[in-house]
Amino acid sequence: MNRVLVTGGAGFLGSHLCERLLQDGNDVICVDNLYTGSKDNIRHLMANPYFEFIRHDVTEPLYVEVDQIYNLACPASPVHYQANPVKTTKTSVYGALNMLGLAKRVGARILQASTSEVYGDPEVHPQPETYRGCVNPIGIRSCYDEGKRVAETLFFDYHRMHNLEIKVMRIFNTYGPRMNPSDGRVVSNFIVQALRGEDITIYGDGSQTRSFCYVDDLIEGMVRLMASPADFTGPCNIGNPGEFTILQLAEKVIAMTDSKSQIVYKPLPSDDPLQRKPVIDLAKEHLEWEPHIALDEGLKKTIEYFKRVI
Ligand code: NAD
Ligand code: UDP
Repeated sequence: MNRVLVTGGAGFLGSHLCERLLQDGNDVICVDNLYTGSKDNIRHLMANPYFEFIRHDVTEPLYVEVDQIYNLACPASPVHYQANPVKTTKTSVYGALNMLGLAKRVGARILQASTSEVYGDPEVHPQPETYRGCVNPIGIRSCYDEGKRVAETLFFDYHRMHNLEIKVMRIFNTYGPRMNPSDGRVVSNFIVQALRGEDITIYGDGSQTRSFCYVDDLIEGMVRLMASPADFTGPCNIGNPGEFTILQLAEKVIAMTDSKSQIVYKPLPSDDPLQRKPVIDLAKEHLEWEPHIALDEGLKKTIEYFKRVI
């Protein structure tokens, strides 16, 4: 039985990961400061003797004995990561340092939840892992983008200096049940607005694109990456290459919820990437992974979830 630490385990992706790791027979420690996460996301796991929750901030050192670490702690929604940008950078950088230090002390394999945001507003489309990105170092998204880039740097330096077994996963926009209704990201915003009959807020003209991955596909990719041979460090894109404009997403959500909501247009926040789509050849080759859940099917499941919770 592996002892596995999941930081950010009470968040959207983290709670699905904890659930999956328990199903696979692991002993799971979930660490979270509950900034954007919630005990509600892990309530159904609390009675399991192989699950422990520790309220802890990853900017502080942590002493536990584990075999594997998934480092997910970091707010992911622009609304939340921009609310206290200095704290966001600290979470990414000190969080990575503390978890890498822990991994080194106990000899654990460690996976970093990095992001497609390391590509910034990309000039190469779609984005392969070899693309070095186009990130503004001083903009409102920089706390997140640059924080995650430094975290990747730290992972590779620990790997080179200390032979640490690392896995760097570049996650593209992922959605599904347990997103917080007030999370602020586009899929949850549109579904909640449509179900409440409120205006659907498109930022900009809606021609910017994103590629949306359903959470179950994403978690499968994450677990496979952790289990991959030691010489495969990544960075490895995990996402769904199906690309949609934000206007197409709004229209889909309105149609699927049978909503009377109207689309309204709001200013596009600065540095909002105009296009995003992963190249997933590395994941296909090294992990035999590709997504199986199309946007319509994933949206249906996510809409059902939000109907229950709001
Ligand atoms: P989320 O906000 O639901 O989860 C993040 C979790 O980290 C929350 O439970 C939060 O309380 C916790 N956290 C934040 N700061 C912390 C700190 N200092 N100490 C301890 N815990 C802290 O977001 P998510 O979508 O589940 O994202 C999880 C990870 O995946 C993040 O690192 C994010 O950057 C990455 N990611 C997610 C996506 C996506 O589309 N969901 C895309 C790219 C990368
Ligand atoms: N967006 C939007 N309306 C919303 C929320 C987001 O039009 O209510 C847009 C946002 O400007 C971006 C895209 O949807 O172009 C995806 O935003 P999200 O915050 O989900 O994630 P990002 O990929 O930008 O980090």
